[in-house]
Amino acid sequence: MDKLFDLSTLFCLISSISFTLIFLYSATVFYLENEKKAAFRSLVIGLLLPIPYFIAWYYNFNILALILLVDIILTGLLFIYPFKTSKAICDEIPLSKIDERNVMFSRNELVIGSENYNDYYTQYPEKEELDNAFRKEAGLCSKNSLFNHTFAFAAAHASFFTVGQFKKAVDGKVNPSRTETDSEKISSFLKTWGKKLGALDIGFCELKDYHLYSHKGRGDEYGNEIHNTHSHAIAFTVEMNEEMVQAAPQASIVMESAQQYLDSGRIAIQIAEFLRHLGYSARAHIDGNYQVVCPLVARDAGLGEIGRMGLLITPKQGPRVRLGVVTTEFPLKTKDRKKLNYMLDFCLNCKKCADVCPSKSISSDAPKMIDGVKRWQINSESCFTYWCKAGTDCGRCMATCPYSHPDNLLHNAIRFGIKHSPLFRRIAAPLDDFFYGRKPKSKKLPEWIN
Ligand code: SF4
Ligand code: SF4
Repeated sequence: MDKLFDLSTLFCLISSISFTLIFLYSATVFYLENEKKAAFRSLVIGLLLPIPYFIAWYYNFNILALILLVDIILTGLLFIYPFKTSKAICDEIPLSKIDERNVMFSRNELVIGSENYNDYYTQYPEKEELDNAFRKEAGLCSKNSLFNHTFAFAAAHASFFTVGQFKKAVDGKVNPSRTETDSEKISSFLKTWGKKLGALDIGFCELKDYHLYSHKGRGDEYGNEIHNTHSHAIAFTVEMNEEMVQAAPQASIVMESAQQYLDSGRIAIQIAEFLRHLGYSARAHIDGNYQVVCPLVARDAGLGEIGRMGLLITPKQGPRVRLGVVTTEFPLKTKDRKKLNYMLDFCLNCKKCADVCPSKSISSDAPKMIDGVKRWQINSESCFTYWCKAGTDCGRCMATCPYSHPDNLLHNAIRFGIKHSPLFRRIAAPLDDFFYGRKPKSKKLPEWIN
């Protein structure tokens, strides 16, 4: 018994030192993130929490030491015990293909009175009034918008302009002299090279029918049926800069989105040309010139899950990414996708994006049956109308998602807890609220933009 008491008091000494160090570290991380309130709270906890442990050790208070030891072991076990979330939260496979003409970007490009405009609203008369709402607003990157910023909007324009120049390079001639190579070799090369080109994560999957849009909704091919005979897809993410995202919905967000559309477009074109040079047909899917629904491909390639806000949520950067896709006839080495059901389980309770959305476009409810499939769906009309008012692509949901925090030890420890323990998932969102606030204010624009 004496030994147990000795062990407990020693454990209390180690715990008090560890708690102090952990919360000092958290306070430093918060401070560097410019989260002064969170840093202060962490500091206070770091000073108060170790007190009972210190007392138990200092006064050799054996019973208290034993209680604290048992308490911490039980709590630790509960928070790392890997209970499985067995029930499927969302359905995976859409019952029909998505028509790109229904996407808001396509509807925004319709010229009033044009043949395409008239055809579209004859087919969907109920959408005309909804779309007139965004047409009344100033528009994306417009001078009269809420967050007009001359330089930032010009920079966003420059990036969109540059990615627009890539459009002709998405497809091209295939080298008639094919290099025979095995799937494993090329897949492993692409994974490493893709990251060297600037991708954050990269995955492969078989290309399914539901990955493809049914019809083109943008550009010269508007209304054309999409035929893509490729068998495989490469999907990758590129990271959106945290500082630029945190100021959302101000102008830095559209500047950063445009930059990452450009970066992902450039990487996709390089990868597609690489495959064609080896003798395999390949097509890059880039901003304004897609044949595929990128989040569905990226999810099936194992890069994340589609969460409450309708974007791909990745395990380490959450929705703070942009996507790129290449489709090809090359039979890439694919793996069975591991469903990340724990991420959707976290979404069920978190709801932070729904609370912060300025246009109330994100539902707080559980996933519902939509076109025969259980899933979340945002109100894309009200979201896009807000974009046209703000002049930016808003991104408030992306900025406040607890998964969007930086990739460091502190946030990865929280992600570990969320992944492994349903109990931890229930308290992780309130914890995030405690440190960052339930509806955190957007940060100031980075100084160099101001
Ligand atoms: S903010 Fe919360 S509910 Fe919304 S997508 Fe992120 S994790 Fe899910
Ligand atoms: S981008 Fe903005 S308006 Fe659209 S869903 Fe997210 S928070 Fe809401």
